Order: sequence, then structure tokens, then C-alpha cells
Amino acid sequence: MADSKPDISPGRLSPAAIERNFADLHPPLSKSEALIAADRCYFCFAAPCTSACPTGIDIPRFIQSIRSGDIEGAAHAILSENIMGGMCARVCPTEVLCEQACVRNVHEDKPVDIGLLQRHATDPILDAGTQLFSRAVPSGKRVAVVGGGPAALSCAHRLACLGHAVTIYSRDGKLGGLNEYGIAAYKTVEDFAQREVRYILDIGGIEVETDVALGRELSLDRLRREYDAVFLAVGLAAVNRLGLETEDKPGVIDAVQYIAELRQAADKLRLPVGRRVVVIGGGMTAIDVAAQSRRLGAEDVTIVYRRGQEQMGASRYEQKLAQNDGVRVKHWARPARILGDGHVTGVEFEYTRQGPDGRLEGRGEFFTLPADIVFKAIGQELALDSVSDSKLRMDKGRIVVDADRRTSIENVWAGGDCVLGGQDLTVAAVQDGKLAAIAIDRYLKTGKAQS
Ligand SMILES: Cc1cc2nc3c(=O)[nH]c(=O)nc-3n(C[C@H](O)[C@H](O)[C@H](O)COP(=O)(O)OP(=O)(O)OC[C@H]3O[C@@H](n4cnc5c(N)ncnc54)[C@H](O)[C@@H]3O)c2cc1C
Ligand code: SF4
Repeated sequence: MADSKPDISPGRLSPAAIERNFADLHPPLSKSEALIAADRCYFCFAAPCTSACPTGIDIPRFIQSIRSGDIEGAAHAILSENIMGGMCARVCPTEVLCEQACVRNVHEDKPVDIGLLQRHATDPILDAGTQLFSRAVPSGKRVAVVGGGPAALSCAHRLACLGHAVTIYSRDGKLGGLNEYGIAAYKTVEDFAQREVRYILDIGGIEVETDVALGRELSLDRLRREYDAVFLAVGLAAVNRLGLETEDKPGVIDAVQYIAELRQAADKLRLPVGRRVVVIGGGMTAIDVAAQSRRLGAEDVTIVYRRGQEQMGASRYEQKLAQNDGVRVKHWARPARILGDGHVTGVEFEYTRQGPDGRLEGRGEFFTLPADIVFKAIGQELALDSVSDSKLRMDKGRIVVDADRRTSIENVWAGGDCVLGGQDLTVAAVQDGKLAAIAIDRYLKTGKAQS
């Protein structure tokens, strides 16, 4: 393929089109819509929706409170189990969690709108800054929380409620983790991530130090000496490589980094976007970078995934969303060569299939896609330098924890994406933080780490 100048430029769409494309994906329900939605709930005993919620929110209870006009009661039922109930109402893949389990699907093929109702209950509380929680008498104990994402904030909030003094140490300038730097912009509009962070910190008893990192300014040994307990929630800060010699070419970009720039851009019209974009991967990051590239005005966006639709990490709903945005998805192909003498000009892919042993194998047949930008979105991993000075038990590159989120080191807990066995979802990270806080509280009060 002959090299040509890459076609990358900002401002491909009008300001009105950008505003439309990045508007709230699921606008909030009005009061009457919420009452109609709440009326569809059967208030099931042993509700399957609650069992399907990783944080165990009592869903029929909060829906009942909405019906009876008690919004504060509804919000309390949600936030006492999941302090990020507002964000989860926006970003949870409810189609594979609570709403998939809803018995309404059986009769009408349409679940109760649990996510939207959850947002209806929590938005007014956050908007008004209504404090629904109070702190217990100070315990005199101090806990270090490393990380500023959903796992860390959930843990810090619960520990603060239980009377402990918390210090959050976070690498990024803003708290929120991927809520602030990762989630698709149209899922969390109007600076919601920061509003939620403010609500969480408003409980008091939580000090924050940003721009400090474990493995850089901080060591686990020091934190263990200075605090009664430590909670690690550093997420997955390193990006997997394609393993191709040519992958460091200009124009081959880490998708998470680009999404972070998009989320922080004061003006999306000034964000450069390629005319032809190729995305390599099959998870939420691949879908999000592809859909947002289209929404910024990229003309031709193709996701290429090495296996079939069934194996994609992104849910069917997310896949459909991207396809509705005009994103093409090609399955059963893997990158063989990044093309271009200087800047990337395209990618050569090899068709793949599943071999008899279940492993992926190349078919020896190839095709080429031209590209101005290639996004790598094949997953993130734990930045091992952040924990390399410690004796943490690791497996498959993640921290090993027990059911209480306790690590192999005395007085150290961990949760969120950085631990083994997680679901890599915001709601799962929130639950990890909550469970760890409950276990840490027990340890601080009784000296016993085990439940
Ligand atoms: C592009 C993208 C889109 C996603 N979309 C969705 C979605 O729509 N719905 C959903 O449920 N989930 C989504 N997820 C997954 C979800 O965002 C994560 O599962 C969740 O944020 C994990 O929370 P966490 O607290 O473990 O880590 P993170 O949110 O990654 O936060 C990690 C925190 O640790 C800090 N940190 C990192 N290293 C260090 C260090 N060495 N020292 C101190 N601090 C450190 C960072 O500054 C950050 O504050 C998405 C993920 C990505 C990448
Ligand atoms: S499963 Fe559906 S109908 Fe039953 S309690 Fe949950 S939301 Fe209501």
C-alpha cells in the first residue's frame, strides 16, 4: 500500500452535531414516567434482580419507595449498599445484570427499567447534596487507601462512616478513576463523576493526596508501618501490547489514553480524529473508542476481533450501540503487520479460527484495512512496578485476595480491577471496596482478620 499523508484532523463535525452525539445516552425519567415504570414492578419475594446485582441493592424496596413518593428512602436503600449508585445507574450493563434477571422479561420481553429508576432516586440527592449518612464516633484508627477509583472511594466512604480516619493516595490529578478518565463521555455527562466524588468525600474523615503513586513516592512497607490497615485499588494502569514488531509506529495509539484525553477535553471539536480508524480488540474499551471516534466524525471505523461475536467482552447491547453508530465489526481476524514506513497507513490481518484444542490459530489468509489511526484495545494489566517491592501473592498478573478481599500480607486488603477474579465493572469494584471496608473494620475492632 502506497504511503500517503494521514488524514487526522479536529472539527470534523459541526458544534451542534458534537453536542447531539455526546448528549446523555439515557436521559432521566420524568416524575410521571418514573411512577409508570415503578408500577410495572411485581415486588418479587427473593427478588432475582437483587440477587443479580453485584452490590445486592434491595431493588423492590427502592422501587416501592419511589412509588410512595419517598425519594430519600429510595436513595438510602440504594446508596447504603452502593455509594456509587448514581454512576452505576448510568454505566452498569443492566441488560446482563438486574434487568436480565427481572421476571417481567418472561411475560413481556421487557424488564422493569431498574437502571433509570435508580437514577431517578439518586440524582436529586446528589444534586441537592443531601447527606444521608453520618460518621460513627472516631475509632482512633487510620487506614491508607491507594487509588482513587470506584473501589477506593467505596472503601474510603464505608470506613469513614464506621469512624476510621482515611487517607486516599491517588496517582491521577482527579479522583474517580475510570469514572473520570475512562467511561464513555455520553454515559456520564455534566461532570457527574466529580459531583459524585464530592458527595462521597462530604461524609468527612477522608484526606486526599493526589499525584502520588505506589511504587514511586509510596511503598507498601511504609504505608503498613504508618497505618493500621491498607487497601489497594490501583486498577489496571498498564496496557497490553499486540506483540508486533511494528506496533510503535506513530498513529498506533493506546485506546484508554485517547479516551482519557477525550474525557478531559474542554472542547471536543478540537480533538484530532482520524478519517479511517481501525480498532483492535473486543471489550468495552474497543467498543467505546470506536463509537466515540464515529461520534467525533470519523468516516470509517472498523473493530477487528480475533474471535467470534459470542466471545467479545462487550455485551451484545454495547455491540449494538456501536453498530448503530455506524461502526463495522469484523470477527475472526488478528493483526499480522502494522503497515506504513513512517506513520501508520493500515493493518494487515490474518483470518483466524478455533483449532481442535480450542486454541486460536491463523488460517494463512490475509486482508488489509487502510487506517489513519489504529487503536490498541486488547486489555489492560496491573502495572507491576506499583507492587513490585512487596510480597503480595499474585496470579495471572493480578493480586490474589480471599472472599473478604484480604491479600496474602497481614493488614493489607485489595479490590477492584487489580485483583484476580473480578468482573472488571464499576459495580464490582464498588462491592469490593465495601466488602474490604467491612473486613478492615472487623480487624481494627477485634484484631481478627477472618470473618
Ligand atoms: C474505556 C473503558 C470503559 C469502561 N466502561 C464501563 C462501563 O460502561 N460500565 C462499567 O461497569 N464498567 C466500565 N469499565 C470498567 C470500569 O471502569 C472498571 O471496572 C472500574 O473503574 C474499576 O475500578 P477500580 O477502582 O478498580 O480502578 P480504576 O477505576 O482504574 O481506578 C484506579 C485508580 O488507581 C489510581 N492509581 C493507579 N496506579 C496507582 C498507583 N501506583 N498509586 C496510586 N494510585 C494509583 C488511579 O489514579 C485511579 O484513581 C470501563 C473500563 C474502560 C477502560
Ligand atoms: S425481578 Fe423485576 S418485577 Fe421482580 S422485584 Fe425485581 S424489578 Fe420488580
